[in-house]
Amino acid sequence: RVDGQEKQVELASKPVLWDERQHASQLTMWEPVRGADRLQQVATGIRVDVAEAVVIVDTNSRIQSFNESAERLYGWREAEVIGQELDVVIPWFGNDADRDTAQRRLREEGRWHGRAAQRRRDGGVVHVLASTTLLTDGSGQPAGAISVNRPIGDDVASAADPAGMPALGDDLRRGLANDELVVVYQPIVRLDDATPVGVEALVRWDHPTRGLLLPGEFIEVAERTGLIDQLGALVVELACRQVQQWRAAGIDLYLSVNVSARQLADVCLPARLADILQRTGLNPEQLWIEITETALVEDLEQARTGLHQIDELGVHVSIDDFGTGWASLTYLHEFPVHALKIDQVFVDGLGRRPCDEAIVKSIIGLARELGLDVVAEGIETLDQRALLYQLGCEKGQGYLFGVPVPAAELVLMAHRS
Ligand code: C2E
Ligand code: MG
Ligand code: MG
Repeated sequence: RVDGQEKQVELASKPVLWDERQHASQLTMWEPVRGADRLQQVATGIRVDVAEAVVIVDTNSRIQSFNESAERLYGWREAEVIGQELDVVIPWFGNDADRDTAQRRLREEGRWHGRAAQRRRDGGVVHVLASTTLLTDGSGQPAGAISVNRPIGDDVASAADPAGMPALGDDLRRGLANDELVVVYQPIVRLDDATPVGVEALVRWDHPTRGLLLPGEFIEVAERTGLIDQLGALVVELACRQVQQWRAAGIDLYLSVNVSARQLADVCLPARLADILQRTGLNPEQLWIEITETALVEDLEQARTGLHQIDELGVHVSIDDFGTGWASLTYLHEFPVHALKIDQVFVDGLGRRPCDEAIVKSIIGLARELGLDVVAEGIETLDQRALLYQLGCEKGQGYLFGVPVPAAELVLMAHRS
């Protein structure tokens, strides 16, 4: 704190959307609620994992601290910058009237956000969406300010990602432009007779030099660089078209697609889904989106609004990886939710860990009480299938029934069964 006392806080950075559909992050701080190593984790995460340049200044606008993204974006060297006045290090580019407005807003409202052009250490210019918030100490006295600056335009790829990442961000943009992103499908079957009733669409990146990449290797980068919107829309569109083709061939399957936290936080998601449904002619009732509990709590307000709009379209909502997130169960009556997907970690423990069996049992019971569908994930053995069915779970997916495959291979399988 500015008064010299140390205060432990937890920080969260969540994606938010500003005017003109610009992505940014909002930082929230609160008293730590869990143990010290959790705090350490969060602090380390902010330091290396946040795309935005975070700069903290004292009441005299002298730089107190900044993160690695700021170091990269501005080309700073720590010793030169700490203790310097922000205006000297990053002089205001642009006209005086704008600067006066920004300063007045900050003074009067405690917050300012807008576009700014800023100078790098090497003299180059970066364009950012800047968000500055005044900080106060415990008694309400001014304590400094925190600026969260997100590079926009061409500066994004070069500055936003941690070491090693710029290449991947650029590469993903190129991959998207070159149609390297493909969709594979995993059947979702009835557990009694293994009839496929639906498919989950899973994205893959058919990389020219690195081979076939799994989502774990690029979704995070897509989220951080904002490319997830384009990627997500592409997956939904390709998958809807595919399901329509199956339908034309006499195979009726519902489609389940994954929607990440950042996509859910995007105010345009419902409209985009509506547009794709309209263009592909897929019956909205046939489309399910899978979201995780963690995505729900990232931006509760937007999740609530967005999910109700999506529900109004007739699209269904499943909770993916149910039971592994952070959300309290109250969301189950606050949000339109139609199904729970039992995470594979619980299925994996069936017959081996009594605790997992208890969890699976209670998820199925909960779903039944609330009138929700339930789908088990990661079923690999006949025993797991039998036990799940016996416990009252009617649908599932997993390597036992089929690994995720390109559409052409799945059609054969659906025909065969
Ligand atoms: P998820 O939605 O929970 O998907 C299930 C993951 O488990 C998939 O991994 C799938 O290949 C794998 N899996 C399926 N059956 C089995 C099994 O029997 N045993 C085991 N051990 N694993 C099984 P994948 O394809 O690597 O996807 C990982 C995650 O990436 C997905 O988890 C989902 O959260 C995310 N993801 C995938 N595609 C997309 C996408 O298009 N958009 C977004 N936003 N996220 C996606
Ligand atoms: Mg999923
Ligand atoms: Mg899952």
